[in-house]
Amino acid sequence: MAFENENNLLEVKDLHKDFPIERGLRRKVVGTIKAIDGISFVIKRGETLALVGESGSGKTTTGRCLMRAIEPTSGNIIYNMRSSGSEVDMMLLDKPLLKKFRKHMGMIFQDPYASLNPRRTVFETVSEAYVNHRINTNRKELEEIVAELLGAVKLAPEYMLRYPHAFSGGQRQRIAIARAIALKPEFVVADEPVSALDVSVQAQILNLLKELQSEYTLTYLFIAHNLAVVKYISDRVAVMYVGRIVELADTEELFGNPKHPYTEALLSAVPDTEPERRRKEIELQGEIADPANPPGGCSFHPRCNYAKEVCRNEEPKLVNAAGPDEKDHFVACHFADKFHLIGVE
Ligand code: SF4
Repeated sequence: MAFENENNLLEVKDLHKDFPIERGLRRKVVGTIKAIDGISFVIKRGETLALVGESGSGKTTTGRCLMRAIEPTSGNIIYNMRSSGSEVDMMLLDKPLLKKFRKHMGMIFQDPYASLNPRRTVFETVSEAYVNHRINTNRKELEEIVAELLGAVKLAPEYMLRYPHAFSGGQRQRIAIARAIALKPEFVVADEPVSALDVSVQAQILNLLKELQSEYTLTYLFIAHNLAVVKYISDRVAVMYVGRIVELADTEELFGNPKHPYTEALLSAVPDTEPERRRKEIELQGEIADPANPPGGCSFHPRCNYAKEVCRNEEPKLVNAAGPDEKDHFVACHFADKFHLIGVE
């Protein structure tokens, strides 16, 4: 079967992830948290797709489900192999096949202090994928590979025998990036990769990720809450709210012409380069909805300044609101074509 669009690296279809709520000594299941509630989207080959939303929106769970680092409850994650041109539904892979398949994917975590084992040298950390995948190399070859990877992340090869404590946060994140790209994966999930770093170091790491993307033809899923960072690095943005995608469009289009009130509120906190467009930050009332008990209708309605009666009763579907000859712009709001929401340049 041919892939719907060969430029797509991943097609995610109706993905769900439920977590049971357990109580008591017998761990009786008393409810379900719908951390991901039926999301569908594609990731194009070579692009950076950002996933944004408040804490609890489901973005980190989505990233982990795409790697099957946690097991999705249902759905399809279809991966288009560059090498063979064939497609693989990752949900159908058993454990041994999944382990093999993971060499096509890398992951960068938020905290470069917690993600590196303090008892392992840089050499052991960066080369661990070769050991895990039993790739036949001798020590000398492995040292050459690690030296090359350290060079790619702009660290000196002589650092390979040092331990993580000898490095700054930015240097540790470079080591973590070298580990993530060690087997030359096609797809990398970067989960808040700069949010634990000093502002002065963030730009360096973002630039490094961009350079590596073009050098190694990487495709990124970039999970972040800082929209200024997202604007800088991403090609397209998906906005999540309570386990669902509520808006998805090209970065420039989404920032300049948001169509969902939640996106507008998130963007109102981003500094605008045009002073006359600057306006007050929209303060969202209350907390993000409880995914164990989301409100009926549009789950954003209790916090939405534009909500009307229909919003309490009918759930809006994610539909393409782009006009003729416009690029795709998906939004889940009953009034998306009525609003003139304010974005940022
Ligand atoms: Fe607001 Fe209604 Fe649109 Fe939901 S559907 S975002 S409540 S206007």
